[in-house]
Amino acid sequence: MKYRVPKREFEFVLREVLEVEQLTQFPIFEEATWEMVQMIIDQVAEIAEDIWFPGNQLGDQVGAKFKDGEVTLPPEFHDAINAIRDTGLVTLFAHPEYGGMGFPTAFEVLGDEVMCATNMALATMTGLTKGAYRCIHQYGSDELKSLYLPKMVSGEWFSTMCLTEAHCGTDLGLLRTKAKPDDEGSYRLDGEKIFITGGEHDLTENILHLTLARLPGAPQGVKGISLFLVPKFIPNADGALGERNGIRALSIEEKMGCKGSPTCVIALEDARGWLIGEENRGLRAMFAMMNHERLAVGMEGVGVAEIAYQNGLAYALDRLQGRDLGGGRYPEQEADPLIVHPDIRRMLLRAKSLIEGMRCLAVWTGISIDHSLADPDEAIREENGELVEILTPIVKALCTDLGCEITNDMLQIYGGHGYIREHGMEQFVRDLRIAPIWEGTNGIQALDLAGRKLPRDMGRLLRRFFHPALEFVEQHRDDPDLKEFVEPFAKGLRGLQKTSMFLAQKGMGNPREIGAGATDYLRQFGLVALGYMWLQMLKVAFAKRGSDEFYEYKLITGRYFFERVFPETIARAVAIASGAKTMMAMPDAGFAGDHRFSGN
Ligand SMILES: Cc1cc2nc3c(=O)[nH]c(=O)nc-3n(C[C@H](O)[C@H](O)[C@H](O)COP(=O)(O)OP(=O)(O)OC[C@H]3O[C@@H](n4cnc5c(N)ncnc54)[C@H](O)[C@@H]3O)c2cc1C
Repeated sequence: MKYRVPKREFEFVLREVLEVEQLTQFPIFEEATWEMVQMIIDQVAEIAEDIWFPGNQLGDQVGAKFKDGEVTLPPEFHDAINAIRDTGLVTLFAHPEYGGMGFPTAFEVLGDEVMCATNMALATMTGLTKGAYRCIHQYGSDELKSLYLPKMVSGEWFSTMCLTEAHCGTDLGLLRTKAKPDDEGSYRLDGEKIFITGGEHDLTENILHLTLARLPGAPQGVKGISLFLVPKFIPNADGALGERNGIRALSIEEKMGCKGSPTCVIALEDARGWLIGEENRGLRAMFAMMNHERLAVGMEGVGVAEIAYQNGLAYALDRLQGRDLGGGRYPEQEADPLIVHPDIRRMLLRAKSLIEGMRCLAVWTGISIDHSLADPDEAIREENGELVEILTPIVKALCTDLGCEITNDMLQIYGGHGYIREHGMEQFVRDLRIAPIWEGTNGIQALDLAGRKLPRDMGRLLRRFFHPALEFVEQHRDDPDLKEFVEPFAKGLRGLQKTSMFLAQKGMGNPREIGAGATDYLRQFGLVALGYMWLQMLKVAFAKRGSDEFYEYKLITGRYFFERVFPETIARAVAIASGAKTMMAMPDAGFAGDHRFSGN
């Protein structure tokens, strides 16, 4: 197995295409100069390649071990966490008043990509801590912030999110864990949570569980849920560890992949917790964490796809099988390498064009988050915030679905050698398979996009994407270089506008129409968004053509995207236009064909 941080690609997207240096105009990001960013990328690359990556296969083979309520992780995981603690990388994106460096999200997404590529199991735990930091920072009281945030920022304490219960997954309204106020200004929680990532482990001395529960007399459903911070050890006022709290792991799950990340059943018995945000408005606060996690999960898709691509490519260059259909390219060898075969090239170029597009989309989302926080103009902050609302479910679902498709294709390049354990390709497929499921399944992301965000304020959120994309088309329609790409893109964009109208109109009369079209709509939207990213990358590549072969390769990759990947938008639009009728026509019993399940 090999992995190298794609530094040149990072520089291309960050600096040449999306001009990230403009962020330094905002006082809170003035430290993020390109020299500083380069230094940090070098440091991240060293740690990821030399320390995180070597522990990855071991995490899969040894995994997390549970004994007497405690979870131990391989020593290599401890080394990996110590490395990012020692270099201050955990602190990079946190606010300076809590010990961080206040770096922009635009860089954080690429940090997430690298960490997920080299050890996804471990990256889930640091990722959750960063999300919890944001939630407490936005909704926690000053006391909670000053007591907990510095320890999270220093990497001494990690966090979890405790939502899921055995009977309550997607439908959080069913949640049963109870909380009641005590007479010490805190609350007492009782209940049981399942599937809690990092619910117990020996990487940090304390674990902070952000837990959803119901207060006495709370309204039914999601409007009666509150959020609490439940620490494993209750800290004293000076931050030293105090009493052991009534929250414990009962067991960990045996699972398909991500085995180095412990997935715990957690019992709360008279556990002491502190309210985050307002009573009964816990989901609102939890979303501050979840929106961050959704982007981070999207980067699991990009990161694991990238490492699978690097290895698929290395194998395709090395393995000799068959001859080039157009005549032996390497007559001196017994056979040609796999890379001569069009079908292998199809998989590699699909992967390459998608990964580069997705990376650009994620960085654009990160930059939009940075503008939504830092721009002095309120209208610009608001517009960027709305764009992020549209892009978040797309990054989460598109990047993880495509990431799974890509890792599967890269395994295919290895043939039978991909299916066996030795080469490590099957681990990528198994590890990444959770990403379309957790943090709100991809089906739910699609419903969020098509059912909530599309109709909001008569399509105002959608226009945050459509306007800049249409403007680009107008400005470059007659550009002799870009014309060939702008034309199909403009058609794809019009197609997306039509399906948006179709779903908005049909959905008003019959919400099932939204449900029936949502997943196809998210894919169609996602591919159009990647098309928009590719237009911008191609524009730079044309402008710099001749200075470096890198740009020639970009032109070929972008052309491949528009010729062979982008046309899927048409098929998705046709599928959406067929509506919900046939899907809903099948009686429940009819799915079994011979009715063998009916009456059960
Ligand atoms: C390894 C692992 C780690 C996890 N880590 C955490 C964690 O740290 N914290 C935490 O709280 N949870 C965690 N989870 C739980 C995870 O978030 C849930 O599994 C996920 O949200 C789906 O819930 P569920 O499994 O109960 O599936 P269900 O909700 O039963 O859904 C089953 C299927 O039905 C679909 N579905 C459900 N409702 C609808 C609907 N209304 N419309 C259309 N389709 C629908 C879903 O998309 C899914 O495909 C983890 C799970 C795993 C496996």
